[in-house]
Amino acid sequence: MTATAEPPVDTVRWHVNRNYRHITRHPEPAQWTDKWSVEGFTEAEKLHGTAIHEAAHTVLLATAGVPVHSVTIRAMSEAVGRLASGETLRGPFNVVLQDLLVGLCAGERAEDRWLHETGMWNLDRAWAAERSAINDRQEIDNFTYQTTSLHLTYRSSGTWHDLATLHEHTDRALDTHWARIRDLAVALVEARHLNARQIADIARIHNPATEGAA
Ligand SMILES: [Zn+2]
Repeated sequence: MTATAEPPVDTVRWHVNRNYRHITRHPEPAQWTDKWSVEGFTEAEKLHGTAIHEAAHTVLLATAGVPVHSVTIRAMSEAVGRLASGETLRGPFNVVLQDLLVGLCAGERAEDRWLHETGMWNLDRAWAAERSAINDRQEIDNFTYQTTSLHLTYRSSGTWHDLATLHEHTDRALDTHWARIRDLAVALVEARHLNARQIADIARIHNPATEGAA
C-alpha cells in the first residue's frame, strides 16, 4: 500500500456514509464488514495507532487545562466487545470551549498524521480512523450545543464550530506538540496504562491532575 497525497483541508469534501448518520472526509469503502478488516493492521500496528490517538487527546486536553488522571489502551484481542480500545480518564474542568474541542478532535487527526508519517496511509484507513472517532465527534457536538445552542457543522457554517475548521486548528496544535505525543505513545504501547504524574513527566507538560498531589 502506498501513501497518497491528501487534499488540503480548505478543499475538504465531506462524504455522507451509507447509514446517513455519519459524515466523513474520506469516502466509505464500497464494501466492508468491520473497521479492523478494512484497516488490515497487525496487532502491533493497531496498538500503536490507538496509542497515538489517545496520547494526542491526553496532551492537548491537559495543555488546555483539563486534568487527565490516566490514559489506557488495549490490544485488539483485549478490546473485543468493549466500547473502545483506548480511553482517557478526565476530571472536572472549566476551560476555553475551543481548546476543549481541539483536544477532542486530536485523536482522529493524530491517527491520520501518524499514518502519513509511517507510510501506512490509504483512503480506507483514513476513513476508518474517522469512523473510530464517532464518539469524540458526538462529544464535540454535545459540548458545542450545551454551550452555544449550535450543533457541529461540516463546512457549511464557516465558523469555529465547523468540523473542518476545528480540524485546521487541531492540525496546528499537533504541529506544536507532535514530539510530546509521539513520546507518550511509545511509553503507552509499552505500559498500556499511565497515571497523571507519568503523563506529565513523559510528555513534559503540566497536567492539572497532578496539582495537590505529593
Ligand atoms: Zn478519541
